Amino acid sequence: MTLQRPETIDPAPLIAGIRDWVAIETPSERPDLIDRLLDLVEAGFEGLPVERTRFPATERGGQLLLRYAPPGCEGAPITVMGHVDTVWAVGTLARRPMEERDGRLHGPGVFDMKAGSYLGAETLRRIAAEGLVPPRPLQVLLTGDEEIGSHASRPLIERLATDSALVLIPEPSFGPDIAVVTARKGWGRFEMRAHGRAAHAGGNLFDGRSAIREIARQILDIEALTDRDGGLSFNVGVVSGGTRPNVVPAEAEALIDMRAATVADAEAAAAAMLARAPFDPDIRLEVTGGVDRPPYERTEAVARLYGAAKTLAASLGMGLGETARGGVSDGNIAASMGAPVLDGLGCGGAGAHAEDEHIDLATVAPRAALMRAMMLSPDFLADAVG
Ligand SMILES: [Zn+2]
Repeated sequence: MTLQRPETIDPAPLIAGIRDWVAIETPSERPDLIDRLLDLVEAGFEGLPVERTRFPATERGGQLLLRYAPPGCEGAPITVMGHVDTVWAVGTLARRPMEERDGRLHGPGVFDMKAGSYLGAETLRRIAAEGLVPPRPLQVLLTGDEEIGSHASRPLIERLATDSALVLIPEPSFGPDIAVVTARKGWGRFEMRAHGRAAHAGGNLFDGRSAIREIARQILDIEALTDRDGGLSFNVGVVSGGTRPNVVPAEAEALIDMRAATVADAEAAAAAMLARAPFDPDIRLEVTGGVDRPPYERTEAVARLYGAAKTLAASLGMGLGETARGGVSDGNIAASMGAPVLDGLGCGGAGAHAEDEHIDLATVAPRAALMRAMMLSPDFLADAVG
């Protein structure tokens, strides 16, 4: 049968596959290990009519693009994007071994997001192995630098998103109803430097211009721009400056993190940040930075895609909640290219970037069923993009 209800999917081999991925530790800073995992993935496609394009690891890690476009399917593809890097250093597994207990699989990187990325690749593999013809070409992109900003993979993510009918992101899902994600805040970062004038704190204090004082006033002013209800926020996370207690500080610096719910807010706030004037006219203020990942907004196209997925899930006997998140993903980048994006399609669980990271094993088969159906159902495609 083309589509499979979750109760007809045996989760055991899927869980074994997820364990194989978690067993290879892949911190973003180790492209050699990311390559080892991508080698393992590629090996699984040996002999199948799936085009494999390997973008070699640099100091930031490589990427693997899988593409299945058998005769009979054409048009803009459906693209799944997942990362295989984790925030966990080599040795974490030795300290905190993978473990199944109470219906959960614990392990570094399992929730964020090896389980989801695995389901994307494995679903594609099974569809190709069964010789099924999907309504559109299917692509799965696996990247190795998401946790450090997706700098190496970004051009590829942008190009694929531009060319795709829709983009599916199997990042972790949340809550008891394993909600998908239909909006993420955008993220910007700025470096602010104040250049004042040094002077002796005793001898000629009033000739000095304190860069620290300027930065302090800026911090209070910037953080006051935070609009909790509107989703715009600023956090000055690092400050530095000065040399000695008896010297008026000539230099000081602040690193600022900005989050915004809408593209319009992000752009306006970034422009204002870059144009900030010093409180003290004798001080020179320098601001660099900008919006790194634009907000992923719940646009009409996203709402339509979610509605189509919800209908599809219902036809397989599943509910499908939705939620908005503050943290960014590669979905933000894909959405900024105009692609309809549905995020949070990974397994349910908890503890991303935390010691108790785990997935709920009961969510593996439902998520596999949904991924397969989204790749294969012509009705879903028609509902989602027309
Ligand atoms: Zn992630």
